[in-house]
Amino acid sequence: MTLAGTYYPPDSSRAVVVSLTLDDNRTLTLSGEGVARVDALRECQLSEPLGRMVRHFMLPDGARVEVEDLDALAVWEREHGRRTGLHLVHLLESRWRWVATAAVFLLLFMLAGYIWGLPLAARHLAFKMPPQVGRVASEQTVALITRMLSFEDSEIPEKRRAAITQEFQKMAAAMHPGSPWQYRLKFFKASLPNAFALPDGLVCITDELIKEAGDDKEIYGVLAHEIMHVREQHGMRSVLQNSAVFLIWTLMTGDVSTLAGMGSALPAALAQAGYSRGFEQEADIGAADYMISRGWGVKPLCDILDRIDPEHMHLGGAEEAISTHPLTKKRIAFLQEREAASKAAAAGP
Ligand SMILES: [Zn+2]
Repeated sequence: MTLAGTYYPPDSSRAVVVSLTLDDNRTLTLSGEGVARVDALRECQLSEPLGRMVRHFMLPDGARVEVEDLDALAVWEREHGRRTGLHLVHLLESRWRWVATAAVFLLLFMLAGYIWGLPLAARHLAFKMPPQVGRVASEQTVALITRMLSFEDSEIPEKRRAAITQEFQKMAAAMHPGSPWQYRLKFFKASLPNAFALPDGLVCITDELIKEAGDDKEIYGVLAHEIMHVREQHGMRSVLQNSAVFLIWTLMTGDVSTLAGMGSALPAALAQAGYSRGFEQEADIGAADYMISRGWGVKPLCDILDRIDPEHMHLGGAEEAISTHPLTKKRIAFLQEREAASKAAAAGP
């Protein structure tokens, strides 16, 4: 390969236009006015590329040859495997548009991972979690909630509790056949109407919610919703999703000390985990479909949602309470739409 160059002899300010030949015998040959020399290439140092700056060969005796045809030089370097780490700098400088595009794609990729990958990973993990972990965590969580909300023993008559439990078991068997969890219903006397589910199938309901219900189907609507939370493992998934954010944060900040308390923090995390709207909707869909299949329709669930402030329906973040009312109206509208769609489908084309 022959390139045009400018030759600067050692200890001289003279510049000579030369033609520079790089051949496969690894020699560098210069020829120009008053210049004729051959040097072994391994004794010549080629300056690193830096943007579109002119590059030069440093010859063994201190002479210098500048080359302006950077592209031809790059081709020659590639062909002869002369690549160094500094080429990356060159790439970044000369291809900044390409680099910027790559950076944007990387950010989008990370964002997608956060939005879709994290919930998927949490879902996968929640269903893979050994049942023992769910059982122990659920027991500890109930103990914690009982203390936190000063729950007392239920005052609902035994016979009535047995009847509700019997219906609950029938629903759980229908809604979650082959469940790895043992569904149980526990009654508590509390200050507010409340119902919540724990990952291992333990569903808790307060006397106040039972008293508030105008019809038993309203209780069963709420229980159907809670069974869905167990079936889809929303509690464990919420905690895992939240702790995954926490994990990423730890990796980014390098503060490992915050990770130490994770294992023992599970019950507290479960007690405080509010469900996302997506999870609430999934639970509402399952409850609506079940209620429709029983011929009850969604009205009982809508009625009790409308009557009880859902802020008290689940333990969870206080922020949810702020947007409670519009959220309830939306949920009721959603349940009704689901029923209308189901009726339309049943009526056929
Ligand atoms: Zn819920």
